[in-house]
Amino acid sequence: MALATIIGSGPNGLAAAVSLARAGYRVRVLEAADTVGGGLRTPEATLPGFRHDVCSAVHPAAVASPFFQAFGLDERIEWIRPEISFAHPLDDGRAAIAWRDIERTAADLGIDGDAWLRRLRPLSTHIDGVTDFTGNQLLRLPQDPITAVRYAIRMLDQGTPLARAAFRTEEAAALMAGVVAHANSPQPTLAGAAAGLLLAG
Ligand SMILES: Cc1cc2nc3c(=O)[nH]c(=O)nc-3n(C[C@H](O)[C@H](O)[C@H](O)COP(=O)(O)OP(=O)(O)OC[C@H]3O[C@@H](n4cnc5c(N)ncnc54)[C@H](O)[C@@H]3O)c2cc1C
Repeated sequence: MALATIIGSGPNGLAAAVSLARAGYRVRVLEAADTVGGGLRTPEATLPGFRHDVCSAVHPAAVASPFFQAFGLDERIEWIRPEISFAHPLDDGRAAIAWRDIERTAADLGIDGDAWLRRLRPLSTHIDGVTDFTGNQLLRLPQDPITAVRYAIRMLDQGTPLARAAFRTEEAAALMAGVVAHANSPQPTLAGAAAGLLLAG
């Protein structure tokens, strides 16, 4: 049996190792660090007993990942699904909260609840269509063209006066701006809008 050597045990190295093992290779993974996992590691980075994810935070993306689905991750691990998906602190000590239940988020957002639902519910109720559109090459017919168009329209207006006018409260605006800012680039950008809508949905 041929031997394949993988340099580095981050998510890409481990995915390559699994794929090669399934293809019938003997696989050896070489890791320079003391622990395996690369960006997936969860060490005690601050105080003893407090474990931090070094990089990964967008764990819902793992549920949607075609690789993990093909690997049967759902049957191998038990997902812990928190009640709160993400939150945004405000200056006066309050926080805007995106609950796992979008109706609860909308109820918390008061006068902006309907606007939040109009913007995100068509995406969150068709999240398979969103991940199909965002997780594949663009030059193909999406599996769910209506959801793809809805997503694209929201992506194009994110950060424009039109989208800003949709929210009247600091909470809703901060919640959306914070999730869009995950893209680590000056805003507004299409990449930021795309990442933010995927995460928020
Ligand atoms: C702050 C931060 C936050 C992030 N947040 C997210 C997120 O929320 N969601 C998300 O999907 N992605 C996130 N990312 C990106 C994600 O971490 C990377 O895309 C991912 O880790 C890349 O995987 P990789 O296997 O290519 O490399 P890495 O995870 O970097 O793994 C590379 C491994 O190779 C080892 N190595 C390097 N050189 C050698 C060598 N010569 N010999 C042996 N071993 C070697 C390293 O020690 C390391 O273990 C984040 C990244 C950062 C920095």
